[in-house]
Formats: sequence, structure tokens, C-alpha cells
Amino acid sequence: MSKKKTKTEQEIEVQVREEITEQKKQDEPEKQQKKWAFPTVSKCPRCGTTETKATHTDGKTGTQYRQCQRAICRYNYSVKGTKV
Ligand SMILES: [Zn+2]
Repeated sequence: MSKKKTKTEQEIEVQVREEITEQKKQDEPEKQQKKWAFPTVSKCPRCGTTETKATHTDGKTGTQYRQCQRAICRYNYSVKGTKV
């Protein structure tokens, strides 16, 4: 049942894939326009230290996930960003 692909068909597939990749690249600047501002210093809601580190930023919802750097706390929380 399996039909062997000719070289031309394979080449076309590669071309299509490359076009898709280029389209994705073009979409990226639009996403980058959606910028969020987050406070550079954030207090841990549990222990109150400012020794917190951003672990992940969700560009869609504008939420920054932070983790308390105190070994005894290590509390994970999220910070809502403001749209720029
Ligand atoms: Zn903490």
C-alpha cells in the first residue's frame, strides 16, 4: 500500500515546511508588540522578602510567575503585569 515518494514530492514537502517556518517568523514581531511591565522588585506574599526571582512569564495573560529565593520558603506566586 505504501507509495514511495518521488524526489520531487519530497522537495515540495521541504519547501512547504520552510514556508510555514517563515510565516511563523513573521508572526513573532506582532507578539513582541504585546509587552508587559512587571515590577523589578516583588515581595514574597508569604515571608515578605524581596529576594524573589521570576521563573516564567506568560505573554498571553501578562502574568509573571515568581519564586521566593529563601531556602526556608521557596513560595511560588504570580504577579499581574501592566500592559505597555
Ligand atoms: Zn518567601
